[in-house]
Amino acid sequence: MHELGIAELARGLDAGEYSSEELTREVLSRIERLDKTLNTFITVDAEGALAAARGADERRAAGQAGPLTGIPLAHKDIFCTNGLRTSCGSRMLDSFIAPYDAAVVERLGANGMVNVGKTNMDEFAMGSSNETSYYGPVRNPWDTGRVPGGSSGGSAAAVAARLVPAATGTDTGGSIRQPAALCGITGIKPTYGRVSRWGMIAFASSLDQGGVFARSAEDAAMVLGAMAGFDERDSTSVEQVVPDYSAALDQPLKGLKVGLPKEFFGEGLEDGVRAAVDAAIAVLKEQGAELREVSLPNLGLSVPTYYVIAPAECSSNLSRYDGVRFGYRCEDPRDLEDMYKRSRGEGFGAEVQRRILVGTYALSAGYYDAYYLKAQQCRRLISEDFRKAFEAVDVLVGPTAPETAFGLGERADDPVKMYLSDINTLAVNLAGLPGMSIPAGFADGLPVGLQLIGNYFDEGRLLAVAHQYQQHTDWHRRAPEEQS
Ligand code: GLN
Repeated sequence: MHELGIAELARGLDAGEYSSEELTREVLSRIERLDKTLNTFITVDAEGALAAARGADERRAAGQAGPLTGIPLAHKDIFCTNGLRTSCGSRMLDSFIAPYDAAVVERLGANGMVNVGKTNMDEFAMGSSNETSYYGPVRNPWDTGRVPGGSSGGSAAAVAARLVPAATGTDTGGSIRQPAALCGITGIKPTYGRVSRWGMIAFASSLDQGGVFARSAEDAAMVLGAMAGFDERDSTSVEQVVPDYSAALDQPLKGLKVGLPKEFFGEGLEDGVRAAVDAAIAVLKEQGAELREVSLPNLGLSVPTYYVIAPAECSSNLSRYDGVRFGYRCEDPRDLEDMYKRSRGEGFGAEVQRRILVGTYALSAGYYDAYYLKAQQCRRLISEDFRKAFEAVDVLVGPTAPETAFGLGERADDPVKMYLSDINTLAVNLAGLPGMSIPAGFADGLPVGLQLIGNYFDEGRLLAVAHQYQQHTDWHRRAPEEQS
């Protein structure tokens, strides 16, 4: 059963070939057997999952099942789950049990999906390798000496290793697309405002967006359709009808205008990645897509711009962890100040502290204009580049990451090198656009991702392009060998 994607599993459940309880037991036993090495889960909720699965089976028996009823999934540990630990990969929240479900958890639960647990992630979603997690690194199932990417590394690796058919993730600067690429799976980050951020622990609020990992675009369309939509509890949620993504997957590629931003194909792109991406683009062309070179001249500003805005917002968002109301509190504080300092010093890891320091500095009086304001102006220039590009083309295509999965520990001591891992993904968040990564082959045995970028609220088109590509390739069906 672990070989099957959501659409196939749903057919099996409908045909009564197995129950959701049986399916969930199989998922739990694979996690038990394979996750000691991979470390993709922080918390597994066997009891809760089996209860939800039995509930789903009852709904099915009563004729009330929808397409996702009884399908297991995992949530990134950044989404609050009522009664179940939500750690955000941090010692700070190691014992935090949320009193409510995030909107995403609530919606997928209401659609009958069975939450089996919470996946490992970089601490507070800051990272590109999953090495900043308080719970230890996740290993890439294609090569356990390598990183799965980050920050949603646990979700990506769990789907790649066929532990779960789908998992949620969040993407502030690439954290869905980059791990999807490095793990050889499909991942989509929708338009900013498409998926509610309510109950999703904030990192950089103007960039954070929830999305999904699955094996195929067809599966991702089903889950995204269920989790997207207006939510009055999130002030940046956009009130716009969610189209039926699954129904729109069969649009042919003929006549589709595909832009190839030349900045994505320049220096720093590994040869093997370039070859796989070129071959993928050739497939789109064979199917009738029209290719055009375009330019995003300010793309080079995205790394410095992001690394001012994201830390600035994080320094403000993370000020709530003060040891007073919830989260970690140090032992025997001398006085109030000592409690603040030691609770934060001991509760946060090195990367989170670095970001808070950078952000606080960038926002401080006297520096605000030089850094934060400047970064906001650059952000506007980057958005304008995309706006112009989308006047001429329907989608943009390029490599998701300039490289394949790198070795564990290789970049841990070099933050700038680590920050460059997201060079192709950050601009999409700065502009608030939807982006997707799909498997596009291998370089030296490691997966390569193709990034698709769409105009605002055009995630349906991205899913359709990805689906057409997946009709003509089988990269998304390749699974890593099991490592137990
Ligand atoms: N790697 C980027 C960062 O560390 C993006 C992370 C993310 O998308 N959550 O900020």
